[in-house]
Amino acid sequence: MRLLLAEDDRVLATTLKKALEKRGYGVDWVEDGEAALYSAKEDSYMAMILDVGLPVMSGLEVVAKMRQQKNSLPVLMLTARDTPIQKVEGLDKGADDYMIKPFDLDELAARLRSLLRRRSGRMETLLRSGDVELDPAGMIAKKGGATVSLTGKEFRILRTLMERGGRYVTKDDLVCALYSGEDMSESNTIEVSIYTLRKKLGNDFIHTIRGVGYMVKETEG
Ligand code: CA
Repeated sequence: MRLLLAEDDRVLATTLKKALEKRGYGVDWVEDGEAALYSAKEDSYMAMILDVGLPVMSGLEVVAKMRQQKNSLPVLMLTARDTPIQKVEGLDKGADDYMIKPFDLDELAARLRSLLRRRSGRMETLLRSGDVELDPAGMIAKKGGATVSLTGKEFRILRTLMERGGRYVTKDDLVCALYSGEDMSESNTIEVSIYTLRKKLGNDFIHTIRGVGYMVKETEG
């Protein structure tokens, strides 16, 4: 689940990126409006967090141009200017939601989930394998109807396995899903996460084939 973050305040951007990655999202960060508009054309993003006050092109211009280009990527606007006119202008130009700085990270994560859930009605369906159910957009896993709490790593591994239910996923694929090419230092994290996922979802939910990889049973969408 990849997010695009457009924010020129490096301290805030770094904090946000870390907080979102901890919650299981992959985050690409750009620092100006032009880069944001360009990157938003990639179809691998699920949503964009867009600061209003960006260099080169403002966040309001970015979202207006995106909508002109029929780009429907959900946009959560960040604004430091707490004036009703700004808010209305942002939403008029096509933003889906907005938050005023400074904001609470948990609140931002909740807004983001609801944005993604709205989008998931059109984009992504629930993944089911046996009695395990995964809502990729809402980032919720259930076993036998009961919510199972997962770490960001566990979520990404489970999602990768369930997206390819019925087929083996190699350990390298899981490492890529976890670190998206950045920090691949601790590949034993995969074993640890598989172990904890089995504890949470049942021992035989994830099958291992030595030297090949891991697999869950075929998923129904
Ligand atoms: Ca700014």
